Amino acid sequence: MKIGILGAGQLARMIALAGYPLGLDFIFLDPSAEACANKLGEHLHGDYNDPRLLAELAERADVVTYEFENVPAEVAEFLAAHTRVYPPAQALAIAQDRLVEKNFLNTLAIPTPAYAAIDTFEQLVQAMSTIGYPAVLKSRTQGYDGKGQSILKSADNLPAAWKLLEGVPAIVEVFVPFNREVSIIAARNVSGDIVFYPLSENTHRNGILRIAESKADDPMQQQAEVYISRLMTALDYVGVLALELFAVDNGLIANEFAPRVHNSGHWTIEGSETSQFENHLRAILDLPLGSTATVTKTAMVNFIGGLPTTKQVLTIPGAHLHLYDKVPRKGRKVAHATVRAENTEQLAIAIEKLGILAEKTHDS
Ligand code: AMP
Repeated sequence: MKIGILGAGQLARMIALAGYPLGLDFIFLDPSAEACANKLGEHLHGDYNDPRLLAELAERADVVTYEFENVPAEVAEFLAAHTRVYPPAQALAIAQDRLVEKNFLNTLAIPTPAYAAIDTFEQLVQAMSTIGYPAVLKSRTQGYDGKGQSILKSADNLPAAWKLLEGVPAIVEVFVPFNREVSIIAARNVSGDIVFYPLSENTHRNGILRIAESKADDPMQQQAEVYISRLMTALDYVGVLALELFAVDNGLIANEFAPRVHNSGHWTIEGSETSQFENHLRAILDLPLGSTATVTKTAMVNFIGGLPTTKQVLTIPGAHLHLYDKVPRKGRKVAHATVRAENTEQLAIAIEKLGILAEKTHDS
């Protein structure tokens, strides 16, 4: 059985690593000759919308999936006309536009921050009279890891924030004074069975995920499961889906969802009975989904822009290192480490040690 993946970055690489024990082969389509999953399968080198390569991918892969959501939705639709493609193209199209995404979440009664669509500076000024300060201005499309975003603290910030956007369609939303950021990851197979992972508690800096920690028995688990299963059912979703949420005093507010395996679920490789990567494959192949039970307390720390030595990481008790085989560059995720521990204190110590290594090599 051959799995086609649009994109050959670290997510595709970890999907392939989870697929080998299941006897699966992989074929990737990626514009970069150096993409880090290339060594793990065949590589079709070229643009995502190259019709010749897409036809070849559809011809050779039994099922096609993707590792990132900025693949043009028309590409997923083209492939879907020729082969099985999961998750559905509609999920991709919705997640690519923050305005469409927030409208969709609201139709499902999944709360979001108050927001307004912005196409002109006048609209921004007008919207701020109802949204209020502080707020966040974001581009509607092509935004991830905090890119294309500005925090608005007062009317003085509006001209510079608007200039940064360079006229692209935008959305402005209330800045949520959250207590915690969490995400829920779930998998749904073709038959409609759903499994949920325990919440991940996430720490970001400059919009980029730094640390994710498994939270078995979190009091907000049930609410998060209700929201993500609503989303999955409405989209007739197949695969792994991640929903990022702000935890506030009286519940959860949705930020965005990602129709793919997610950085905040990397700890599931060592921390769950079945990783998100394996469950993604099981879901798109309509196999029984694996248990998502945590095997122990687990956390993950990202290495961004630089790397400690392998020995430095593995000296930390309970640490596992995942190198992505990428050349370090500013702002680039190049590896992560997972730590497992028997209790919260040991986990906190291990996270701190990994965090120090990550800080020494981070570039931002
Ligand atoms: P995003 O690209 O929308 O995931 O935003 C990246 C990060 O910016 C989030 O993980 C939050 O830390 C922060 N952020 C984005 N939107 C908001 C908001 N409305 N209120 C508070 N923080 C936000």
